[in-house]
Amino acid sequence: MTDTSSTFIAKSNIKSADLEHRQKINFNIARYNAVVPQGKHQFSDLALARERAKNIKWRALETLDQKLEEFELQFNKRGGKVLWAQDAAQALEQILQICKEKNCKTLVKSKSMVTEEIHLNDFLQKNNIESVETDLGEYIQQLDGEAPYHIVTPAMHKSKEDVAKLFAEKLGTDLKLTPEQLTLVAREKLREKYTQAEVGITGANFIISDIGAIAVTENEGNGRLSCAFPKTHIVVAGIEKVIPSVNDLSLFWPLLSTYGTGQKITVYNTIISGPKQPNETDGPEEMYVILLDNNRTNILANAKQRESLYCIRCGACLNACPVYKNIGGHTYGATYSGPIGSVITPHLQSMDEYKHLSYASSLCGNCTEVCPVRINLHELLLENRNEAVETGFVSFAEKFAWKLWKRASLNRSMMNMSNGNIKNRIVNKIFKGWQKHRSELHFSKKTFNEMWKERYKQ
Ligand code: SF4
Repeated sequence: MTDTSSTFIAKSNIKSADLEHRQKINFNIARYNAVVPQGKHQFSDLALARERAKNIKWRALETLDQKLEEFELQFNKRGGKVLWAQDAAQALEQILQICKEKNCKTLVKSKSMVTEEIHLNDFLQKNNIESVETDLGEYIQQLDGEAPYHIVTPAMHKSKEDVAKLFAEKLGTDLKLTPEQLTLVAREKLREKYTQAEVGITGANFIISDIGAIAVTENEGNGRLSCAFPKTHIVVAGIEKVIPSVNDLSLFWPLLSTYGTGQKITVYNTIISGPKQPNETDGPEEMYVILLDNNRTNILANAKQRESLYCIRCGACLNACPVYKNIGGHTYGATYSGPIGSVITPHLQSMDEYKHLSYASSLCGNCTEVCPVRINLHELLLENRNEAVETGFVSFAEKFAWKLWKRASLNRSMMNMSNGNIKNRIVNKIFKGWQKHRSELHFSKKTFNEMWKERYKQ
């Protein structure tokens, strides 16, 4: 068992027994569940919309090289610059280089999972650049020194009382402030940062190939301020975020908002196609888009796992997952949690280190059921388990136990050798680890042959 795997099990044990945690997360997921059906009403044929979205992403990923080059060509025409980063280290170096050129001391950031993936904030801090999260949930998490808990709602595990306590400790505010008052405090602090920052960093919900632009979806307006106030705007986006055409947004924007938060459409949806043009008054003077691979091409090369790149990061599979609801987001020990995180993390990081996540699933299929782009998540989890075994990442004891199991179950005379009680004792001894988190295995008292004979006699 690897260290990441034993840490995961230890944390899961603690979290699943934490009733207060469960109550908070269930409360927030119940609110989500109450509004999602309202958002779904806007689709006259939801099944068709989901199928179309999957097909569009399929087309984009099957021609990814062409789509990215088309994006680059169009984006360059409006004065933007595209940088290609093979891994996290290269992306960080590119960001640092730009920050140094701009003499950047303070940087404002809108919510972006990909910058979490490359651990941008820690890197900037080490290089003496203040990086301020401007999304309220992310701001709360940054104040608390925690990573996001959920890919859409980063502070989902905190109650309003927790946030009031945190603000009182870190910002000296009154413990009795209401959520509205707390929001105003954050707003006041952040407004000041927008005007100071030399650089703004955002992610991209979509990279639009035909017009050479990126699309950002958010509810607070902080994303717009982060890219419009500072003189330099840097976008960090995974290469899989591509959609072929701007027209596809008419499908993806409502799908993302409905499945992400239950809204018909998110409050701010922005298309940014480059820096400020000569006839424009607003916007940054320079704009860069960093296209990050960071092992996504490993997934692309894997014909079975490729569809996990269709993900639009709506978070619906996390909210639907019985495992996530019990162990929470931080337990996964990875940037992307829940079913989609369990599918992609072994490929983005390391199969050996993260294969255990694919076993943290009841395989109920609820994740697949709710995914707006119809990714076969539970089957991909099974596929990961298969790949882990095929590539030899299983212990000798496990291999030996399954070999014995296979031998016995393929041999009728061995299966008939003893009664159920003896089999129970032998098998439960061999599969000791099984019982740590599951009930014992129970064999029928009579063998299959005995039962068959009795039935035949009757
Ligand atoms: S896998 Fe599907 S449900 Fe899960 S976050 Fe991605 S798009 Fe949403």
